[in-house]
Amino acid sequence: MKRVSLVTGASRGIGQATAIRLAEDGYDVVVNYLRQGDAARDVVDRIEQAGRRGLAIRADVASRDEVRRMVAEAAEVLGPVSVLVNNAGIYQRVTVDQMEPDRWERTLSVNLSGAFHTIQAVLPAMRQEGWGRIVNVSSQVGLRGTDHGADYAASKAGLLGLTKAVALEVAREGITVNAVAPGTIETDIIRNYSKEDREIRSRHIPVGRIGLPEEVASMVSYLASEEARYITGATLHVNGGYLIV
Ligand code: NAD
Repeated sequence: MKRVSLVTGASRGIGQATAIRLAEDGYDVVVNYLRQGDAARDVVDRIEQAGRRGLAIRADVASRDEVRRMVAEAAEVLGPVSVLVNNAGIYQRVTVDQMEPDRWERTLSVNLSGAFHTIQAVLPAMRQEGWGRIVNVSSQVGLRGTDHGADYAASKAGLLGLTKAVALEVAREGITVNAVAPGTIETDIIRNYSKEDREIRSRHIPVGRIGLPEEVASMVSYLASEEARYITGATLHVNGGYLIV
């Protein structure tokens, strides 16, 4: 059966690794990006090297209209989306007393409302097909909190609620909705961490190191597979044991 996946924020980091992994799994992939068109096209090249079709589409996930346009273009060129990975996300290290309201709004718009817009846009085709996979990339911060990113923590905790609610709504229609909660992963989002900060973090991670984007991508790949059909509304942790209590 024809399968098309859409990965938001796929020009780099976890999104890039996921897009390439899904291509290796046999999916055609829509590579959504916001600013890095060249990087997105490089990802498309790698998807094509894996023998699948790729399509880079610029869209700000915070915009309902842009998301709808992207999903329509994807359907026209590759076919209806059957695997959606809500990966796009922003994060800035700032405490709640220093946080501008605009920053709060933007983080919620991208990290949480973005997933709402994409889910609304892809669900009709998944329902029609009677098959679909939605994976929302949350964070360990959504479960545990953080002392420098109340906006981010709220958005990532919100994604867990969204995941469970939509999972219940579509459970009988062959569509699963799950969340992946990565720990600290080596991508641009943590580029501002100092060497000392990285060492401290690594010491607190039971496996002793920061994770790799590919290690998150392999969890997304599993959740997107047919084998994972009985898993829905779940949060899967990819954090080197960080949340073991
Ligand atoms: P990253 O900054 O490299 O990637 C984020 C991607 O999202 C970028 O490609 C960026 O352009 C894109 N993006 C941002 N705003 C967008 C918008 N409005 N519309 C479309 N795309 C947009 O970081 P990453 O670590 O690869 O992050 C991927 C996801 O994983 C994020 O949701 C992040 O919160 C989550 N996460 C990351 C870590 C980590 O330690 N790296 C840990 C937990 C969760």
